[in-house]
Amino acid sequence: MEKQKLILPKIQLGNTGHHVSRLALGGFHQVEISSEIVENVVNRFQDYGGNYIETARSYGDGASEKKLGKVLEGRRDQFVLCSKSGADNADDIRRDIDATLTNLKTDHIEFYYFHGVPDKEKLNKILAPKGALEGMLKAKDEGLIGGIGLSSHYLPMYIEGMTKLPIDLILIWCNYLEDLYLPEIQEDIFPFAREKNIGITAMKPLGDGFLYRSPTQAMRYAMSNNPDVLVCGMNSVQHVDEAVEAICQGPMTSAEGKTLLAEAPELGKYVCRQCGNCSPSLKELFRLEGYVDRQMIDYLEHNPADYALRLRLSPWFSLKEKAISIFKEKKWDEQKLKDEAGTVSCPYDIDVPRKTRLTLAKLNGGNADII
Ligand code: SF4
Repeated sequence: MEKQKLILPKIQLGNTGHHVSRLALGGFHQVEISSEIVENVVNRFQDYGGNYIETARSYGDGASEKKLGKVLEGRRDQFVLCSKSGADNADDIRRDIDATLTNLKTDHIEFYYFHGVPDKEKLNKILAPKGALEGMLKAKDEGLIGGIGLSSHYLPMYIEGMTKLPIDLILIWCNYLEDLYLPEIQEDIFPFAREKNIGITAMKPLGDGFLYRSPTQAMRYAMSNNPDVLVCGMNSVQHVDEAVEAICQGPMTSAEGKTLLAEAPELGKYVCRQCGNCSPSLKELFRLEGYVDRQMIDYLEHNPADYALRLRLSPWFSLKEKAISIFKEKKWDEQKLKDEAGTVSCPYDIDVPRKTRLTLAKLNGGNADII
C-alpha cells in the first residue's frame, strides 16, 4: 500500500494575519550547503506544505539570504519570509533591510527581527531617537517589511522587549535541555507573549545539535510547549522528511515528556532535572551552571566526537559573565550548599556533591578541571 503523504499543519501566527506551517525552515544551516542542496531542501519542504522560512543577515554574512533568494526566484510569494539584523541605529538597520531585500530578490519581507538583543544598553539604543526602531518603523511605513520580531540570547530581554517594542513575533529557544535551566521560558515568557497576542516562533528544538540522538522526541517535546511555529535548521532532504514526520506525529503527552526527561542520554547522570529533592538554592545554582556552559561540561567519559560537540556548543549563549554576576549577588554560604548537597538522594543518579563542587568552581572563576 502506498504511504500516505504527510502535510504540515498550519496556524494563524499571532495577530499577523499570516497562515503558516507549524514547521519553519531555518536559514542558519543553509550556509553549510550548496545552493543546489538548498533548492532540494526548499522543494521538499514546500512539497509538505511548508511556507515559513527564516534567515538572518549574519548567517554567513548574507550567504544564507543569497542562496534562498536564488532558489525562491519566481515563487517568492508562496512563502512567508523573515530575516534579522543586529543593527541598533536607523541608518544601519535600513542598510541591512535593503541588503536583505536585494539578497532575497524581493521588494518586501513579511517580518524583520531585532536579532540577538543582548542587554538593556542595546535595547535602549534601539529605542533612542534615530535608533533601529525608528528605521524599522519607517521601513514598515514604506511597505518594505510587514512586521517586527525580536530574538535574544538573554531571557530578561524578552519581557522587556515585548513591553517596550511594537513587535509581532518573538523567536525563542524551545528544547528539553534549555527548559531545565531556563524554566522562565515556559513559566513567564510564553504566557506574556500569549497575553499580548504576540506570535511565538521557537528555535533550537535540538539544542543546536546536542540532542541529535533523539530528533523525533526532541521535536515532539518542543511542540508540546505549544509554540506557534517551530523553526528547525535542515540541511538535507532527509532532515526535512524526519522533521515533518515528527511534527505530524503531534506533540508529546506529559507522560512521554516525563519519560524523555528521565531517559534522555544527553541529560544522563549530570543535567539537573530540577526535581524537588534539592533545596531551592541548589536548584538555582544548577540553573546558573546552565548559563555558564549549558551543563555540558561534566568531566565524565564521552566519545571524542561528543566531547568536541560539547566544547563547541557549551559557550554558545555567552552567558557566563551574567551567571557569575548573578552568583556574586546571591552571596550564598558555599559550605552550607556543599553540606546540603551531601544529604540529597537524586532520582536521576546525579552525584550531587560532585556537581555542586564543579558548579561552584565554574562560578567562582576557579579551575573546575582539577576538581
Ligand atoms: S535531586 Fe537531582 S534532579 Fe533533583 S534537583 Fe537535585 S540534582 Fe536536580
